Amino acid sequence: MLKCCSLCDGQILNKFLDLGRQPLANKYPKPSDFQEEKFFPLEVFFCETCKNVQLGEMVPRSLMFEDYYYLSSVNGGLVRHFEALAEELKEAKFVVDVGSNDGVLLRPLKGLGVRALGSNLRSMSPSSPMTRGWKRSAPSSRKPRHGRCWTATARRM
Ligand SMILES: [Zn+2]
Repeated sequence: MLKCCSLCDGQILNKFLDLGRQPLANKYPKPSDFQEEKFFPLEVFFCETCKNVQLGEMVPRSLMFEDYYYLSSVNGGLVRHFEALAEELKEAKFVVDVGSNDGVLLRPLKGLGVRALGSNLRSMSPSSPMTRGWKRSAPSSRKPRHGRCWTATARRM
């Protein structure tokens, strides 16, 4: 259960959507596995302090991505959407795409000559440089390995 905001530690959280208990998305259990399928509460909260919208319960990453088959590039509409987004970002010096999946945005960015770095939460450990510091910004004295981020994108996180 959510006790405080995951971004600012704010205590004033308002639940505005409750979809009950749901199975994990993009997981396709066999009929013999239905009895053991796990369900999780899908509640969405709004932080009055920083305006962040977040889930009430985070599913452990190991469960979320153990059988995760979704690839953004199989959806032609998404491919065209990210090609258009890349055009909008083509003046950026450096783009970090958080949750880059199979690189559906990174490919057109690189095709346009934009430096781009993707992170995939499926393969990131909690101590990776991308997940550390999400709650607090990194000290300014630290020199980023890839240079300062010009633009950051994150979708469906
Ligand atoms: Zn907050």
